Amino acid sequence: SKKDSSRNSPVQEGDHVFQSRRRDMVSQLMRYGISDKRVLDAFLQVPRHLFFDIADRTYAYDDGAFPIGFGQTISQPYTVAYMTAILSKRCPAGKVLEIGTGSGYQAAILDAMGYRVYTVERIEGLYERSGRVFDRLGLHVQQMLGDGSGGWLSEAPFDGIIVTAGAPDVPHSLVSQLKVGGCLVIPVGGSDGQWMTVVTKTAAGFRREVYERFAFVPLIGREGWNEVDDGG
Ligand code: SAM
Repeated sequence: SKKDSSRNSPVQEGDHVFQSRRRDMVSQLMRYGISDKRVLDAFLQVPRHLFFDIADRTYAYDDGAFPIGFGQTISQPYTVAYMTAILSKRCPAGKVLEIGTGSGYQAAILDAMGYRVYTVERIEGLYERSGRVFDRLGLHVQQMLGDGSGGWLSEAPFDGIIVTAGAPDVPHSLVSQLKVGGCLVIPVGGSDGQWMTVVTKTAAGFRREVYERFAFVPLIGREGWNEVDDGG
């Protein structure tokens, strides 16, 4: 089918310039300390510029977050790589849930690493646009439109959950939708910054670890911020 033929050719449409920029981006990630080979390979493979509007594609390999409309952003490559490297180490395979599809780039990275990817977005325009990019790349990412702060109960349990928006605290629903041994990677904090937090579900309960500080747009929903709070 059309989908399957495009799947084996992630580099498309006279992509030589973008390919060399992608290699530069990966070199920079390595200088920043990202060493996980699966993560670096996925960054080399996924055409990040296709997750940008045509007019913005020249910025696709810059080292920063970038506006994608609707007041939202595609996260900085380092941030995506950092979170993905945690997942890669802690829960290297299986079924992964992402909350905050945004552009779809993070979901595509997880797909390229061989995960079965489920992703939830609350903004319809982003849900639709990312869906078109997934189709174009022939990715079999499962999408849901709605508030993902409570997870995706009918598809639970997950080997990993990654939240790409800042939460006021760890949502109980997300933890409860992890398999034993599974991990949740989530930035937790207020509008002045969030600490990357990893919750691992063990046979006995949970283990919580806190890493570097980042700046995300707020997770808005029943187990996130109220729409009016907007991240505290
Ligand atoms: N992962 C995205 C990417 O690769 O482009 C970047 C995500 S952006 C930093 C955060 C996204 O989370 C936004 O698109 C926002 O609309 C979404 N979001 C915020 N709260 C949400 C919720 N409760 N459920 C689902 N999506 C949510």
